[in-house]
Amino acid sequence: MELVEETPYRFRIDRRDPMRVPGVVFAARPLLPDLGEDRSLDQVANVATLPGIVDAAYAMPDIHWGYGFPIGGVAATDTAAGGVVSPGGVGFDISCGVRLLAADLDRAEFPRLCGALMDGLDAAIPRGMGRGAVWQLADRAELDAVLRGGSRYAVERGHGVVRDLDRCEDGGAVDDADPTQVSERAVQRGRGQVGSLGSGNHFLEVQAVSEVYDEPVATAFGLRAGQVCLMVHSGSRGLGHQICTDHVRAMEHAMPRYGITVPDRQLACAPVDSAPGRAYLGAMAAAANYARANRQLLAEAARRVFTRVAGCRLDLVYDVSHNLAKIEDHPLDGVDRRLCVHRKGATRAFPPGHPDLPDDLRPVGQPVLIPGSMGTASYVLTGVPGAPAFASTCHGAGRTRSRRQATTTVRGQDLRRDLAARGIAVRGASWRGLAEEMPGAYKDVAAVVDVAEAAGLGRRVARLVPLGVVKG
Ligand code: 5GP
Ligand code: MN
Ligand code: MN
Repeated sequence: MELVEETPYRFRIDRRDPMRVPGVVFAARPLLPDLGEDRSLDQVANVATLPGIVDAAYAMPDIHWGYGFPIGGVAATDTAAGGVVSPGGVGFDISCGVRLLAADLDRAEFPRLCGALMDGLDAAIPRGMGRGAVWQLADRAELDAVLRGGSRYAVERGHGVVRDLDRCEDGGAVDDADPTQVSERAVQRGRGQVGSLGSGNHFLEVQAVSEVYDEPVATAFGLRAGQVCLMVHSGSRGLGHQICTDHVRAMEHAMPRYGITVPDRQLACAPVDSAPGRAYLGAMAAAANYARANRQLLAEAARRVFTRVAGCRLDLVYDVSHNLAKIEDHPLDGVDRRLCVHRKGATRAFPPGHPDLPDDLRPVGQPVLIPGSMGTASYVLTGVPGAPAFASTCHGAGRTRSRRQATTTVRGQDLRRDLAARGIAVRGASWRGLAEEMPGAYKDVAAVVDVAEAAGLGRRVARLVPLGVVKG
């Protein structure tokens, strides 16, 4: 795979048949995937062959190997020109994302509260492989209400406050969900999991604002130095996974009908404007609403613990997903085009002035939430005007070591002790799961965020450090 260095932060994969557009990788040399072990740059070139793709197949600095598309990948197709939607461009955990809440609590208060707070969260947050969830849905009709209404429905039923919805992408729900495209198997898998974290990479973390890079923007977001925060990372659980599985299979069968061939079966796709394309988008939107309701419920459960133990409030800073395809208008060569923007392990990052932002955030831009690891740091960025890659940026540090490699490097017990010695309290679901998530399994998040900023994908607002983590 030949990379042309356009700037120290931007590399190009030249177009060659059957690519329709070039590949563009935002990275610095040390962050590029290890070409021997990780085929993610080949995946960028594969994505560039998709029917209707425009501009370039993009990769973010946290790029690593994924199913069909790389994780840290962005690709947009022109809906008016036969552009496709591909479930692999969204991923199995549909609308997996991050929610950040700010507490009216100073980090100096945390040591006194740590034990009770972490034990309270440990007990209140269902997670791991087992069943159990914060919200027991009455019946299938109520699940459909979740699939249609997302966080809006959760708030309607008393799980949160109306202000939360202002600080959610899409006001807490997308409108085009079609529960009839969600299979019975997906329903079975998802029914008992609304308000559950999931495993491994998913977490609920108590953090402190350790640095503010842009005071006015941080203030507008509701963040200040020394403040305690709560970050939630979770997605659409078994429901989203099953929807992806079902629709990949359906599209594999449908592709010949549309004369589509792809270099990798995992890139199965169908035109946005086709029966299988619409079916997937309707089911995907249902899963997106499920994921938002899930994070709403998890945050509410955490709020109750914070109120009881610390007597403090948690205000939502923002909730944004990093695995989603959305129909958005973006200018191309000066003309607005209706595009299907796939972000897989990539975060939407709207600039100041964007009409879809709530009134109080419009002057400063969208909060962009970038988790790093339970042992290092996480970042809050904001969108910047004129950003490339359809207003998208990275979604994390990105893995460098597989889960298996991690478990042969460290024991969960030792990791927990090391983190505790550094003042980070850990409540895990399993030792193995903990080891899989060792901070050394991820790239250096500070370097990733540096590149995102240098490449013009976003601007740093604040840095958060972990105080305690509840791991899936
Ligand atoms: P993904 O959605 O790809 O599973 O994860 C997104 C990012 O979350 C990863 O790239 C990693 O940087 C970050 N991450 C994983 N586990 C943790 C954790 O326990 N705490 C924090 N702050 N970040 C994490
Ligand atoms: Mn996920
Ligand atoms: Mn995720």
